[in-house]
Amino acid sequence: MASKRGLFGTNGIRGKVNEDLNLNFIMRSALAIGSFFGKNEKIVVGSDTRKSSDMVKFAIFSSLISQGHDVFDAGIVPTPALQLYSKMHGKFGIMVTASHNPPEYNGIKVIGKDGTEIDERDENAIEEIFYIENFRKENFASLGNYIMVNDVNMNYIGSIVEKVNREIIKDSKISVALDCSNGSSIFTSPEILKILGIKYTTINCNRDGLFISHNPEPKEENLKDLEYLTKNNFSFGAAHDGDADRVAFVDENGSFVYGDKILTLFAREILSKRKGYVVLPISATMAVEEIAKMYDSKVIYTRVGAPIVARKMIETGALFGGEDNGGYIFSDHQYCRDGAMALARIIEIIAKYKRPFSEIIADLPEYYQKKSSIHVEKKKIQYVMKNLKNEIKGKNFIHIDGIKIIEGQSWILIRPSGTEPLIRIYAESKDRKDLESIYNEYQKKIKSLLKDL
Ligand code: MG
Repeated sequence: MASKRGLFGTNGIRGKVNEDLNLNFIMRSALAIGSFFGKNEKIVVGSDTRKSSDMVKFAIFSSLISQGHDVFDAGIVPTPALQLYSKMHGKFGIMVTASHNPPEYNGIKVIGKDGTEIDERDENAIEEIFYIENFRKENFASLGNYIMVNDVNMNYIGSIVEKVNREIIKDSKISVALDCSNGSSIFTSPEILKILGIKYTTINCNRDGLFISHNPEPKEENLKDLEYLTKNNFSFGAAHDGDADRVAFVDENGSFVYGDKILTLFAREILSKRKGYVVLPISATMAVEEIAKMYDSKVIYTRVGAPIVARKMIETGALFGGEDNGGYIFSDHQYCRDGAMALARIIEIIAKYKRPFSEIIADLPEYYQKKSSIHVEKKKIQYVMKNLKNEIKGKNFIHIDGIKIIEGQSWILIRPSGTEPLIRIYAESKDRKDLESIYNEYQKKIKSLLKDL
């Protein structure tokens, strides 16, 4: 994965351990990152629970120390905990994680001193150093130091519990079933629930670097145990991904709650108090726009990718942003996906309404969605996209990342995959029949373009 399309993918550097992500590759990546950081920096490094995380982390430490940087070992931490620490202390950060990928993967995320993942321009600068091997190094007397830090998780926990109304939560009698997916949240989210005075139980809350219970991706098919446990026993269930920057929810009936509903709920809560901007990737639900209009507010769309959404939020002063995969970004806390902050805020919302979670969700605008993908050889993708653009002249469309055509209360997004020979199709409508018709129309168009080739 890592070596095929340059160093960085959509979520940092990733690969299979001891295959493409071997020691040599990790050290060269770290030397390139360390060279990019400059001279004598202080760099905080954290990791998720993966079996390979220590191997990757210590290779990074050696590389950075050889360049004269001081390294701060944060231990096992959620990515947003590392990002918060980075921001508060003005230090560069490196997170060792492959997020939701299977256990044989690992990866490296680079965090700027503002606590947000570096942008594409900085990634390109690191790539250039990597390929020409223009690595900074120091003589023996100027080598960096290794320092352990043990307050990164506590700092994150403290910051989150301060951001919610603890009084209404304490009196709410809310109970939570929590699935840590054996990942980074094992030391933070249970602690947050304890401090908030919530009755809770946990599953997969021990360190297991091989993720034996389920892959650390909080999607419906991985959360059957959580659904079973939650049904009729808890106010809701929550599950984090491997590095706990994301969280997914299950209602009191044991039904999975889709991320677009949670996005819409957070947007409503935030915009009803204060009007402003919400930043979403182009593929996000229109329901947020409906809510934004109600509160005299606006949705700004970006290319797909959480760091892109976060950077746009900083640029525009937006109040909230996120993705429908469980990544929610709150500007009053920090500009990154923030799994435990989202968990605490869902508790606060349920405490405020004093109603079952399923009823709160049922109040949100209803949209129908359809997603699929068509296999298209990489060399043919450009042809299809160019001709499609010609065919839709005169229509209302947005061309930020793929092509999104908007027709009344329906839209369809046709977007080439960044990594695979696929064109992805996302469609949404307020009306089930309109959804089918827009979806079929464009699927036919793409297929007939492919026939012409
Ligand atoms: Mg993640």
